[in-house]
Amino acid sequence: MKKFYLTTAIPYVNGLPHVGHSLEYFQADTVKRYYRFKGYHTMLLSGADENALKNVQAAEKEGLPIQEFLDRNSKIWAETYEFLGVHLDVFQRGSDQKKHWPGVQKLWKLCQESGDIYIKKYRGLYCVGCESFKTEGELVDGLCPDHQTKPEPVEEENYFFKLSRYQDQLIKLIESNTLKIIPENKKQEALSFIKRGLEDFSISRSKERARGVGVPVPDDPNQIIYVWFDALDIYMTGIGFGWDDIKYQKWWPADLHIIGKDINRFHTVYWPAILLSAKLPLPREILIHGFVNLKGEKISKSVGNVISPQEVVKEFGLEPLRYYMLSQIPIDSDGDFTFDRFKEVYNGDLANGLGNLVARVAKLCEQNNISAPELPTQFDPKMTRPLEEFKFNEALSHIWEEIADADKKINEEKPWELSGEKLKKILEDYVKKIQQIGYNLQPFLPETAQKILTQFSGQVKSAPALFPRL
Ligand SMILES: [Zn+2]
Repeated sequence: MKKFYLTTAIPYVNGLPHVGHSLEYFQADTVKRYYRFKGYHTMLLSGADENALKNVQAAEKEGLPIQEFLDRNSKIWAETYEFLGVHLDVFQRGSDQKKHWPGVQKLWKLCQESGDIYIKKYRGLYCVGCESFKTEGELVDGLCPDHQTKPEPVEEENYFFKLSRYQDQLIKLIESNTLKIIPENKKQEALSFIKRGLEDFSISRSKERARGVGVPVPDDPNQIIYVWFDALDIYMTGIGFGWDDIKYQKWWPADLHIIGKDINRFHTVYWPAILLSAKLPLPREILIHGFVNLKGEKISKSVGNVISPQEVVKEFGLEPLRYYMLSQIPIDSDGDFTFDRFKEVYNGDLANGLGNLVARVAKLCEQNNISAPELPTQFDPKMTRPLEEFKFNEALSHIWEEIADADKKINEEKPWELSGEKLKKILEDYVKKIQQIGYNLQPFLPETAQKILTQFSGQVKSAPALFPRL
């Protein structure tokens, strides 16, 4: 049986999920469902990046012991997935000393065996928000542009990874799409970063600076492994790396990593270089989405515009949020969330579009005793092609074209003026169209699709509105 292994980004758990995070979860879940329909054995993994300094700082601010803080927040992240109907097969935590830590140390040793780890005295400016060093050139007025904070000067002896050694190999792998980066603008961003010249980077910190939190460097208890070297490895340790080789061999490499644009470099440069050094297979594809803004502004605690996904779902339902994220946020740029736009899309596409068509045809069928033919068994290729390229909005707009076509046909054919065999034939034709629309919707709106397929099996009957108008 063919397998499809995909992951979402591993968040720091110092903050909590907001509505923008749901984009990535819905994308991952849609891809997973699609491959399951195609007969693949699928695995969806996420987890929690728990060894970051910013978690320690957040725990201190709340006056909680670090492990208690991590347990509480990681649970909230994991539960948010389930709340959103996105079932994770694995949620791998970074503080898991049984499954995660041995794998991180194993990866370290493999890079060491390749001669890619060395010790060096270092001075640099560290942004805790980014959990990475910044060059002077990356700062704006001395501040990290992403966090508006002044990075801390750090001077210590650290272990370094010979990233520079992999520059040419990475360029070849990315240009040839052996390591496929989607969309094209994010691929070019990664390539231009690499072509500017890669510098070796620090992959450890003193135990003191790490506040004692994190995976110890093998054979050097005074140093802790850098949080990114550790967190990226969750993609492998969650599926057996370092503790179940048969499981690991079955699932690795990942077929798809889905991430946000702010962590492009870590996934398209550092991560593949580490894997090349360790002589392990690289992930096949990396999908990089933009941010979901709120009325054009970045969603953040400091701006004070955080909306939780729970808030939206409780008011409007789960699948309308799912539909909004998948249809309104393009894959190659940032998208926007506003309640006005949300209601517009809900009423336009869901209530008046899909919901109205289904109700209309069901009623006509009920009045004329129509039974449905066998359900379809194949997706429409016009929708699968964009879906396989992760153009979720294009795939959905194809389905909505079918809905508009069906509406138009009904208005032209005026079945309410017809009778007998002619009417029966026309209605059966509508039923087939709706069945195919329901079938195509399964990866995107699983619950709605199921309702439609159930309603349009056997004797067709009216049912409560799929999406009551707002
Ligand atoms: Zn920063």
